Amino acid sequence: MDTEIESKNKLLTYVIYVSLSCFFMAFLNVIHTIYVLKIEFSIATFIIPTFAGLLFGLLLAQIKVLSTRLRGMAYTDSLTHIYNRLHFAHFLDAQIDKVKRYGGKFSIIFFDLDHFKEVNDNYGHLTGDDVLEKITDLVSKANRNADIFARYGGEEFIILTPETDLNGALIHAERLRHDIENFNFEKVGHITSSFGVAEFNAEKDSVDDLLARADKALYLAKEYGRNRVEKA
Ligand code: GH3
Ligand code: MG
Ligand code: MG
Repeated sequence: MDTEIESKNKLLTYVIYVSLSCFFMAFLNVIHTIYVLKIEFSIATFIIPTFAGLLFGLLLAQIKVLSTRLRGMAYTDSLTHIYNRLHFAHFLDAQIDKVKRYGGKFSIIFFDLDHFKEVNDNYGHLTGDDVLEKITDLVSKANRNADIFARYGGEEFIILTPETDLNGALIHAERLRHDIENFNFEKVGHITSSFGVAEFNAEKDSVDDLLARADKALYLAKEYGRNRVEKA
């Protein structure tokens, strides 16, 4: 679906850049022919500048497409296509600034797949990759549009849930845990995941405090037997 949109955008970029550039070159040449050279223009007047415009437009479109792709690569994870950790940090900083300045609340949900090393060991790394992609899909669909979902590390993910208190985030995490546990992954079957949830405390928390609290809750979820949600 995403790649379909991506190729449509790419095609559109080429069409726009090439048409504008052809039009611009031909237009300039007509003006130059009539007003500077004082020659009556013929159809041949159009051919060379239009061709030059075509090449120029193709070049510009190619640069535009590559720069868009590069920007996407800097923001997203190459396997799952969700945000990477670095970009998540920008969203988190912005959300903290917003809540400190204007009030409001938000929570974060950390989760990590249980015994994922065994999935790789038993079924191979490529199957492990498929599971990571499928989980990303599953969670993206369950999230709200406003939620910021990122791959934090190998098989560790993080969600920023704006305008959501601890209770709301716990309910969401529990639903995700349930969805993952009940999904039947091709070849692998069922796997589970552990969750750590923390609400931002505007009075006390720095970014690091908030992340450390959520991480500690995740650690507790692992300690208490995995496949569970714990709060900070
Ligand atoms: P725990 O329940 O304690 O989380 O156990 P675990 O086995 O999931 O944890 P551990 O951190 O020991 O192993 C994480 C595994 O995730 C090991 C690593 O090979 C795998 N992994 C990390 N990134 C990727 C990836 O991009 N693709 C695949 N297939 N595996 C990955
Ligand atoms: Mg794990
Ligand atoms: Mg891990």
